[in-house]
Amino acid sequence: HIYLDNAATTPIAPEVIETMTTQMTQDFGNASSTHFFGRQAHTVLDTSRHILAQSINAKDNDIILTSGATESNNMVILQTAQKRANEGKRIITTAIEHHSVLKPMAYLESQGFDVVYLPVNAQGVIELADLKAALTPETILVTIMMGNNEIGSHMPIHEIGQLVHESNAWFHTDATQAYGLLDIDVQEDQIDMLSVSAHKINGPKQIGFLYVNEAIHLPSFLMGGEQEKKRRAGTENIPAVAGFAKAIELLTPAVKAEHRARYAGFKQQVLEILQANGIDFEVNGAGSDDMVGHVLNMWVKGVSTYVLQMNLDLAGFAISGGSACTAGDLEPSHVLIAMYGEDSPRVAESIRISFGVETTEADVTAFCAALTKIVQKNLAKQAGKA
Ligand code: PLP
Repeated sequence: HIYLDNAATTPIAPEVIETMTTQMTQDFGNASSTHFFGRQAHTVLDTSRHILAQSINAKDNDIILTSGATESNNMVILQTAQKRANEGKRIITTAIEHHSVLKPMAYLESQGFDVVYLPVNAQGVIELADLKAALTPETILVTIMMGNNEIGSHMPIHEIGQLVHESNAWFHTDATQAYGLLDIDVQEDQIDMLSVSAHKINGPKQIGFLYVNEAIHLPSFLMGGEQEKKRRAGTENIPAVAGFAKAIELLTPAVKAEHRARYAGFKQQVLEILQANGIDFEVNGAGSDDMVGHVLNMWVKGVSTYVLQMNLDLAGFAISGGSACTAGDLEPSHVLIAMYGEDSPRVAESIRISFGVETTEADVTAFCAALTKIVQKNLAKQAGKA
């Protein structure tokens, strides 16, 4: 089986497994304990937190460990709403955010908040003029993802940071998909809060962080112990945190640049082979030269997402019909709908492939051959019926 669904999750790097195994077998202490075992665990926590913070040019104290980007996103949205409701009830986001942003937004709407969903263009990017027009003195939060998980579009984060900071609002970005490929600097880009998940970068699942600038004091989401400087209760998962830090250490700027170049090459390879094979397709979000490079979303004309995904699975290729969470229940992609409209055939005939560190040119060639066969067979079948 060939795995081309790295936007859903990634395999754990061997170095990460080694680090985690050491932590689980030797340093099992509770980081809050004052004895030797506790101090040892706390040292690992501190060292790891420093690596997390450095990776986005933040201060160690501004990193809150969470169970992943879902928790980070939920915490930002719900706790900002709670903290700032008396200053204003307007929140701005986009139509193509992950459900861990959109669902808390829907909840806040039910509680009387005014949520603005900025539209995106055919490249899956917001227009800055729309953001500028939507910002009011009552706006308390702007949350716009850095890179989209379904089509890989990359939002103009630096410009957004500047605009938002001309207002009273806080600026949060969900960097879950972009983090592994882009160099991020929260100070340069005026990002107040930022979410990341370890399992998208060859780290373990259920661990992530939320960066919160020191000027912002969010009420704790989970109540209990005084961990994370009273900002997130619960005994820290030291093996997971150490594994997360190891995964980050492996991702030097040079490695990220190399991955971007490799994935761009794979994309080109797919386009060239499918074109040569006479497949009628279009890239969703095409035209943007600034994509978060591991994602390639394609409209394969005339064959349904379901048929493509199922047959590719049978042929040994793991791809996705959209995001992993929505693909399971075959809901149409809210991202493609936002970009192309509900009636576009793209909504029902698109697939997402996403590359990772283990992807090879041979994988890509084999995938293209399998896809070509499936498309030709299904189009011939339809022609036979007609
Ligand atoms: N945000 C984006 C853009 C994602 O792609 C994901 C991954 O599914 C998440 C948030 C949620 O991450 P997790 O499931 O690790 O909490």
